[in-house]
Order: sequence, then C-alpha cells, then structure tokens
Amino acid sequence: MNLRKSIAIAGISALALLGTACGKDGTPSSDNNNGGASGGGAPGGSNTASAKPQLPTYTVKEGVDLSASKTWKTAKDRGHLVVGVKDDQPFLGYQDPATKERSGFDVEIARMVSAELGLDPKKIEFKTIASVNRETAIQRGDVDYYVGTYSITDKRKEQIGFAGPYYISGQSLLVQKNNTSINSKDDLKGKKVCSAKGSTPIQKIKNEFPETTPVEYDTYSLCLDNLLSGQVDAVTTDEAILKGYAAKDPDKLKVVGANFSEEKYGIGLPKDDAALRAAVNDALDAKGADGTWLAIYDATLGLSGSPAPAVPAVERY
Ligand code: GLU
Repeated sequence: MNLRKSIAIAGISALALLGTACGKDGTPSSDNNNGGASGGGAPGGSNTASAKPQLPTYTVKEGVDLSASKTWKTAKDRGHLVVGVKDDQPFLGYQDPATKERSGFDVEIARMVSAELGLDPKKIEFKTIASVNRETAIQRGDVDYYVGTYSITDKRKEQIGFAGPYYISGQSLLVQKNNTSINSKDDLKGKKVCSAKGSTPIQKIKNEFPETTPVEYDTYSLCLDNLLSGQVDAVTTDEAILKGYAAKDPDKLKVVGANFSEEKYGIGLPKDDAALRAAVNDALDAKGADGTWLAIYDATLGLSGSPAPAVPAVERY
C-alpha cells in the first residue's frame, strides 16, 4: 500500500519535473513557454514551471545632466541612445528572428544603464555589431556604447574606453556531444578550432596553440554551424557564450575543460569621454549594490546553467 502510494507520488513528481523541463527549453526570448504549467494535478507542482525569474523594470532617472559628456549630450538631443550588441548569442545578446525582440544579459545591462543615464531604455536603437568591428564602430560614433561580451584589454583601451567590468568569464571549448577526443585545451593539437575574427580567443589560439588550425568567421553562430556539420572540431570563446549554445542544443553539444583565460566584460565607449565612463561605472556600482544586476542575471544568463557569480567590482582608471 505504502509502496504503491510512493510510486504514485514518484510518478506525479516525474511528470511535474518533465513539465518543468519542457517549459525551460524555449528560445531565450520567449517569456511564456510554460509547457508544464497545465499539470495542475501535481500538488504544488504547477508553481515550479511558472517560477521563471522575471526581469526587473528600469526606472528612468530624472534630472540627469551629463552635459560634460559629448556622447550623452548627442544622445539626449536625439532622444535616445544607440547601443551596439550581438544578436546570435542566446542568454547574452540575442535577437529573435521572428519577433525581432532583443534579449539577454548584455541587452538588459544596456537597458539598465540607459535608464540610469536618464534616457528611456525602451527607445534604445540597437545595432548588431560583430566582434571584429567593435572598436571602429565606437570610434566612428556609430554607437554611443557597446555591450556584447566585450573583454577589457589594454590593446583595445588604446582605441576606446571601458566601463566595468560587469561580468567575468573565461575562454572555454564547445564540441559535439559524442566527441571523446577533446576534453580540454590540451587536446587541441591537429584540430580545427573556430572562433570569431577580432576576438581575444582566436588571438590566444594563434599565439599559444601553434599546432592547432584556427578557423575564423565574423560570428560565433557561423562557427557553431561548422561544428554541427563537422567542418571544425571545436568552437572556442568565452564559457558564458558557449554555455548558451549548449543549453539550446544539449543533445548535440557540450562544453568541455576548465576555462583557460580571464575575460572581463566591459562596456565599450568613446576613449576621450571620461564623463560617460564615470557615469556608466556609477550606474554599474549602484545597480550591482541594489540587486538589479542579480535579478537581470537570474532572468537571463543564469538560465543557461551557470550559477550567479559575485558582482564584479568596477575598475575605474
Ligand atoms: N570576450 C571575448 C572578446 O571580447 C570573446 C567574445 C567576443 O568575441 O565577443 O573578444
């Protein structure tokens, strides 16, 4: 009798779990994919499926006057910010091809900062810009700032400025799920490894892995296509990006090995605009301290499986 009862309960729990799992695997931008929420028979179980973390709302700060910043002043006169992002990195910077809706941790950080600068985040004009074109886009004024897995490096600082960091990741490897030959960076000899042009990971492969064949594309999604078709053996870039791809296609892809670099994500902005850099750093400080950063993380990047790290300390220079 008891055994029967526990089997019945186990069955219900399994169903509830299944429901939860189904609810999770929609595209990152779909907010209402509660595949399991209809399983009302499970006692207390239906709540789990709908307990997806919600994005915070951003209150546009009033009375902001940053006229010392040329970039801010131009944006204020224009009525909105122009922000560079990625569009093919699930949970970070993603654009739904059907709805055109943008989502992800980087996109939300961009919106949060806009509100802190006194400019309506709903009015942001987003521009998709590939890794290799970031410095030029900022230098030419094509964007006011850039938020897209953009590592702070001394070399880039010669051309542009960085606020942040607002997140820290590290270089890792993505391979096909059934791959048994690549388990870490030490297995890359003789392998074809794909990354994005102009990125820190492709540079590391070229500099430190001379026996590896680097393959470069403008975007990581092109590397991903090549990995799935077997044209390359691995994709390398930041773990945060790779985990997003693996979470979208867990039957075919896996992230392997320990991280082998430190990538501090900054918000890229014009080099000479110290006032904007200070204001964006202030925004990151304030929204890190009041829990907004964590709420954003949980509702975006956290969904790809990485537990929330501590909010990194802003490095002013
Ligand atoms: N974070 C690295 C970089 O800034 C890799 C990711 C990217 O290309 O955006 O180069």
